[in-house]
Amino acid sequence: MRKKIVAGNWKMNKNLQEGIALATELTEVVKNPNCDVIICTPFIHLASVAGIVKGSAIELGAENCADKASGAYTGEVSAEMVKSTGAAYVILGHSERREYYHETPEILKEKVQLALANGLKVIFCIGESLEEREAGKQNEVVKAELEGSVFNLSAEDFGKIILAYEPIWAIGTGKTATSDQAEEIHAYIRSIVAEKYGQEVADNTSILYGGSCKASNAPELFGKPDIDGGLIGGASLQVADFKGIIDAWN
Ligand code: PEP
Repeated sequence: MRKKIVAGNWKMNKNLQEGIALATELTEVVKNPNCDVIICTPFIHLASVAGIVKGSAIELGAENCADKASGAYTGEVSAEMVKSTGAAYVILGHSERREYYHETPEILKEKVQLALANGLKVIFCIGESLEEREAGKQNEVVKAELEGSVFNLSAEDFGKIILAYEPIWAIGTGKTATSDQAEEIHAYIRSIVAEKYGQEVADNTSILYGGSCKASNAPELFGKPDIDGGLIGGASLQVADFKGIIDAWN
């Protein structure tokens, strides 16, 4: 059966020393969690944090990787480089990357393929804007995002994808989707994965909720049958907040 997961997305927060301190503290307090715990850090933290989380209950991921394998792409970091740090995951398709860095479905498709080819598991984000939700287009939007970047994969490769439903209007805004709103679209997402890959693959796909998830609302969200955990931004930057969300699985 599918995994329960709490994944942190540090975004562009914490310098190296602060990141090392946060990762160290997390390894000290997160023991025998009832879910998989992943922290996704800025690139420059990866190699140091890999050494800190090794042998602990915490796994490591990056927040992005390049859409090219290697070569003259100044400032880019390849999937192979990410993997070589000891990271096992990469977040792709985050709405901030789509919006601020103009990552199109085609670019994301390349990134996903390179990540998988280099042995990384992908946390693939999808979700609608406020305008799209108000127009009742959320299902259409998430379906197009899946079709545009991951539904080309074989069933075997799709099995290495974790989906994260993140309504853009709930990210960093303090506005959470209600647990019923989230469950409704998670169930829809699972149904289109089933249509594409069959029920068994759909049942094995973890679908995380992201968007102002906190220790106070996590138990209700995680209590829904199609919500398999959370992708956590702001609340992953403080040990007590992140631990509180992990403990929602207890
Ligand atoms: C995110 O950006 O992945 C996210 C869910 O952010 P926040 O928890 O801060 O809303």
